Amino acid sequence: MTQIHDVLIIGGGPAGLSTAYICHKQGLSYLVLESGKNVFQGIANTYPQGKLVYPSKPKDAPEPFLVEELRPPDKPVTVESYLQYVQHFVQHENLNVQTEVDFEDIRDDRDGLTVVTSRGNFRGRKVVLAFGSNIPRELSVYGDAKMVAKNVDDPSKFVGEKALVIGGGNTAADVVIAILKAKREENDSQPVYWAHISEKFDVNKETAQRLGEEILLGGNIRLLPGATPRIGEVDDEGVDRLVIRINEFKQADGIDLYHAMSFPMKNVIACIGSQGPVPIFDKLGVQTIACTSGVCKIAKEGDRLVLLTAEFESTRKGVYVIGGAISPSFMKIAEGSIQEEKHPNLIYTAINDASHVVEAVKKSLGR
Ligand SMILES: Cc1cc2nc3c(=O)[nH]c(=O)nc-3n(C[C@H](O)[C@H](O)[C@H](O)COP(=O)(O)OP(=O)(O)OC[C@H]3O[C@@H](n4cnc5c(N)ncnc54)[C@H](O)[C@@H]3O)c2cc1C
Repeated sequence: MTQIHDVLIIGGGPAGLSTAYICHKQGLSYLVLESGKNVFQGIANTYPQGKLVYPSKPKDAPEPFLVEELRPPDKPVTVESYLQYVQHFVQHENLNVQTEVDFEDIRDDRDGLTVVTSRGNFRGRKVVLAFGSNIPRELSVYGDAKMVAKNVDDPSKFVGEKALVIGGGNTAADVVIAILKAKREENDSQPVYWAHISEKFDVNKETAQRLGEEILLGGNIRLLPGATPRIGEVDDEGVDRLVIRINEFKQADGIDLYHAMSFPMKNVIACIGSQGPVPIFDKLGVQTIACTSGVCKIAKEGDRLVLLTAEFESTRKGVYVIGGAISPSFMKIAEGSIQEEKHPNLIYTAINDASHVVEAVKKSLGR
């Protein structure tokens, strides 16, 4: 029987790590499952380089930061130094974190919950969902598609390789630029293929300019507009590959012709945007409520908000949701009524949610 933790925490951002740290201090067993290469991957992926991190606090918030150790300093520092500080902190405190684990599902088991991930199953008495508001979209292809990267942390690993970047926006363009630059610096003429499902790529002027510069400096790029990722397969040598259809010819006799390319999955980066957490709540059977006119002040009509108790427990028993995943508002059940509750997407909110949720979990576990 695998070990059962008091709390399984999904996501190693400010909300998840604060939960871990408080559990650690209070003697609850816990494990953080983070999909990125490092903790705070969500922040690393979304903040522009050199951005200052502010210890912002909503005006009407009565509490101080409840985990002083993870609070951004009063004199704002760059995101790079905040990330570095957090990584040292996790090492120093020896927090129990597993990275590169993608959360997939939750199942009920006899004395708790089983969390299903890309790296197998984990067991917990309670689960805290702290996966933030930006959930990277998955490539939906048939077959044995294994996960592909959603970002590059080290573009130089594509030197000497043919890389495929999928997606038509600025994030994809940035990845293309980074790989072209790494290749240029090493005099590598292997191309970067850039595929997009639609015929038109859509990047802003500044990104287009940087891309143009890279091409003028000798960047070898092959555009694949109108290309569709189709199948994930394992080849004869056991290599996971992605087959992408690059064009299609409809013929009168009803037999279509098409060209396709097959890339090792390890050379593929899919930057196909992110989505809010509602599809995950649906999958987990966590109830959400659609805002109808006049009911919500922050959310728009038709937006679906997750339904939580005042202690952040969802309608699925033992499953709590905190941080950016429930911003900018959620539906709070309190004293027999349900109301939209404001929940600003800030590090402050994420940290303080963690403190409240651990209190609730302790009470529920009778500690
Ligand atoms: C550009 C920008 C600037 C900002 N500047 C500030 C600022 O200066 N001050 C401030 O207070 N706030 C700022 N914010 C907001 C702040 O970053 C968020 O409120 C905060 O990061 C929310 O923390 P979180 O832990 O809930 O979510 P996140 O920080 O998003 O962390 C969630 C973690 O879960 C992981 N994850 C996601 N899906 C899965 C999965 N399926 N399995 C496992 N792990 C998963 C992610 O990789 C990520 O590491 C800014 C936001 C942006 C986008």
